[in-house]
Amino acid sequence: MRVLIVEDEQRIATDIRDAINGSGYVAEVVSDGEEAWFRGSTGNYSAIILDLGLPKLDGLTILKRWRHEGLATPVIILTARGTWAERVDGIDAGADDYLPKPFRMEELIARIRALLRRSSGQVQPIITIDSVTLDPRTQQVSVNSIPVNLTPLEYRLISYLFHNRGRIVSQAELSEALYSHDSERDSNAIEALVGRLRRKIKAGVIETRRGFGYVVAAEGA
Ligand code: CA
Repeated sequence: MRVLIVEDEQRIATDIRDAINGSGYVAEVVSDGEEAWFRGSTGNYSAIILDLGLPKLDGLTILKRWRHEGLATPVIILTARGTWAERVDGIDAGADDYLPKPFRMEELIARIRALLRRSSGQVQPIITIDSVTLDPRTQQVSVNSIPVNLTPLEYRLISYLFHNRGRIVSQAELSEALYSHDSERDSNAIEALVGRLRRKIKAGVIETRRGFGYVVAAEGA
C-alpha cells in the first residue's frame, strides 16, 4: 500500500518516510502544496499524511479540493500543538484523523494502520482469510498459526490483497501499490511475485481471474 507524505520540513519527512517504509508500506514524499494536490489527485494511494503549513498551497485548501473532486482516500493531518481550531477546520474539510506536532512515530504508524483497517471495512487488527492470518502491527503472516517468512515485497503484496479482499485487483494496480512512484514497474514481475507468494502460503487463497487480476475471498473462515 502506498502512503503519500506531504511535509515540507525535510527532517520530519525523512523520519516519517523511514517509519512508513519500515512498516510494510511504500512511502512517497512531496514537499510543496501544488505537487501534493496533483499527486494525491492522480496517484493511487491507500492513505495520505498531510501537513497543513506548506509552500505554494496550504494543506487545508488541498484537502478541500481533494474532497471536492471526490477523492475518498483516508487523510491524517499534522497540526501544530494547541491549535484546536485548526483541527476542527481540518476534520470539517474531510480529514479522517489528526496528530498534533510533535508526535511519536509509533503513534502515527498506529493511526495509519487503523485508517487502512477501517477503510478496508476491517474491525479486527488481524486479518484472517481461510487459514492465513496477517498482522499489520508485526507484519507477520501465518498459515495455520505457523509464521511464514516473507520478503518485504511479498508482504506488501499479501497485505494489499488482504486489505482489498473480495475485490479483483489488476496487475497494473498491484504494480502501482507495491512500488514507489520513481521505481520501475513491470507487470511480469507481479505474476512471478504472486507465484512465489502462493508457494509460501496456502496456494488457493489468492485466486487468478484470467485477464482481470487477482482476488482473495471476501469472508474470512
Ligand atoms: Ca509545514
